[in-house]
Parts: sequence; C-alpha cells; structure tokens
Amino acid sequence: MRIFKRVEEIILPHTSMGTSRKLQIIRYGNLSSTKKAYIQTGLHADEPPGFVVMHYLLKLLDEADREGKIKEQIVLVPTANPIGLSQWQNDQLQGRFEFSTGVNFNRSYPELTEEVAKKIGKKLQKNAEKNIQLIREAQLSCLNAMNPEDEGQFLKLKLMSLAVDADIVLDLHCDYEACLHIYMGTPLWPDASDLTAQLGVPVTLLAENSGGEPFDEACSKIWWELAAKFPDYSIPSACLSATVELRGINDVSHENGLNDARNIFLFLKRRGYIAGVAPKLPKLIREATPLTAVEHLKSEIPGVVIYRREIGETVKKGDVIAEIVNPLEQNPAKRITRIRSKYGGYLFTKNVDRYARPNRILAKIAGVKQIKGKGKHLLTA
Ligand SMILES: [Zn+2]
Repeated sequence: MRIFKRVEEIILPHTSMGTSRKLQIIRYGNLSSTKKAYIQTGLHADEPPGFVVMHYLLKLLDEADREGKIKEQIVLVPTANPIGLSQWQNDQLQGRFEFSTGVNFNRSYPELTEEVAKKIGKKLQKNAEKNIQLIREAQLSCLNAMNPEDEGQFLKLKLMSLAVDADIVLDLHCDYEACLHIYMGTPLWPDASDLTAQLGVPVTLLAENSGGEPFDEACSKIWWELAAKFPDYSIPSACLSATVELRGINDVSHENGLNDARNIFLFLKRRGYIAGVAPKLPKLIREATPLTAVEHLKSEIPGVVIYRREIGETVKKGDVIAEIVNPLEQNPAKRITRIRSKYGGYLFTKNVDRYARPNRILAKIAGVKQIKGKGKHLLTA
C-alpha cells in the first residue's frame, strides 16, 4: 500500500547570529486530490492542549495512511509558532505576543480582498468551481509577491500560504479557564455545525468581521467579501475556517487530547477526507450565537477575585458571577464588591489568575442578542 505521508521543514529567516528556527509541515494524501484540510496548533505558543491533540491526530492519521484510507489532502503544522516557543521570561513561556514587535501572533494577518478583487474582476465566471480556483490562485499569487520584513511576518505569510487554498482550516488554541468553544465566520453557519456537534462544543461564536484579522478570518472572510463585491457571480464561502479553543491552558490530559483528536478525525471522515462511514453525528449542544452578544465581565476596582459561578453554567441578568476582595477598605461591608452579569447567558471562560484591575476581563458570557455599543473590535488583545 502506498504511504503518502511527507514531512517538510522550512527554515525561518535568521533573526540573531548563529540561531535558526524551523517550521515542520506534515502532509497526507495525494496532491492531485481535489480537497484539502489544514490544521495547525500552537500559533499562540503558550497554549498547550493543541499539541497533545496533534500527537493523537498524527497517530490516527498515520494508521489511516498505512491502511490507504486517506482520500484527500490533509496538512498538519504541529507547532505553528517556533518564535513563540522560544520566548521564555521569568521561567514562563510567553507565546502570545512577539517579543521583538509586541504584535499578537494571531492578529494582523494581511487582508487580500481588494488586491484579489483587482486580479479576478474580469475573469470571474458563472461557474462557482472555476471561481474558487481563480480566487485561490490569486490569493497565493498575492502572498508570494509580499516581502516579509522580519521573521514574524515571514511566519504569518508562510502559514497563510499553506492554508488559504484549503477547504477546511482548523486553528487549535485554548483560553485561560474555559469549556470548548469555537470562533468562525457567520456565513459558515449552519454548514459547519457538524464540526461543533462532533467536537461536543457548547459555544460557537459567529462574526463576519471580528476586527482583529485573526488567522481563521484571514482564510475565510475574503470569500464573503468578494461575494458582496461581485453579486452577479457565484462565489461560495469556500473555506470552512475556525478557531477551536480547546478549553483552558491547564486542561492538558491524554483523555482530552485523544477525545478531541478522535472527534476531529471523525469530522474529517464525515467530510470525505478519510474512507469509511462516520458514526451518527452527535446532537448539537447549543445553537451558535453572535460574537457581538458576548459579555466581557469586568471589575472597576482592583482586588482579588473569588468566582461564584462555574464555567458551563447558564447565568441570568443580575446574577453575581464574581466578588472582588480588597482588605484595605476600613469598612468591612465595602471590602467585598459583587460583580454581576448585565445580560446573562452561558459562562464559558474565566481568567486564570485571581487578580482584578480596572478594565481587565474576568469572565466571558455568551448571550444570544447583540450587545449595543460593542464597536468594531470584538476580540481581546
Ligand atoms: Zn490562542
């Protein structure tokens, strides 16, 4: 049986004398196949659960590969951010922001819509498949023409080049303390509800444009933006791209890793990437909700946080979610300040340490209705 697995390495441009970093890319399936799935983990390098999922996913895919069951292209990048993985400070890995620039590794990806629109405008056809091909080629041509100014930009462009021509893109992350949740583009729902249902995810957050240019949107948003620009042509949302938050940073276990990897494998099987019949799709736990309906619970004062509600609880408007303790207050009654939910919803994240300061997000609650005044930047820094 022919084994199609290939391992490639890309050397990143040198930043300091005598040092180098590399990106490993693992490819399964025949390059001539028509569909492609791309999965990466560790773009925020200090979010460990995804690496364990990748370990088990590799085992499952190696087995499927040996049995000749991989029917389409599957590309994995097991450690998507070698720069972040080298950023240690005071004995802690700091993999969210690039030390040299301060830029978040999962923000500020290039927006290609205008440039691609110029390239394809006169070439669009009535046939959706031909337009998909045209748009993918134009995206890759734009990315290839860009000159990255530093190692961080090089990494972002390389990851994007690996993903923009894929039909499925999964970017594996985690939150601080959290249940499973997913971010994706509004136009991808409900087509992508099989991903949410198979992974057993209770919170799926939808936005057409979250305002931060994260990796998943860099791959998907261009499709509905081009469709709006060229309403006379058939341009489907051809890239199901999602950020999958694998619970909290300390939720690292064989059990979770194997379970999540199996569910991703079954999702790929159901979508035709792996031969065989997937079992019946589990029931969707909770309908997707708008990202604009997420309440960011904040304290106006500094102190120590005691949470009064648990992740996974549905809370009501006015419920006390946390208390802030400040022992400097002379009046005992004022030493505790109660923080209440303004809107209610599903409590899905908490901060990891127990310190409050003004404007710091203590918890996130997924509501159903858009919260007024949310503005254009819906993601946290
Ligand atoms: Zn992340």
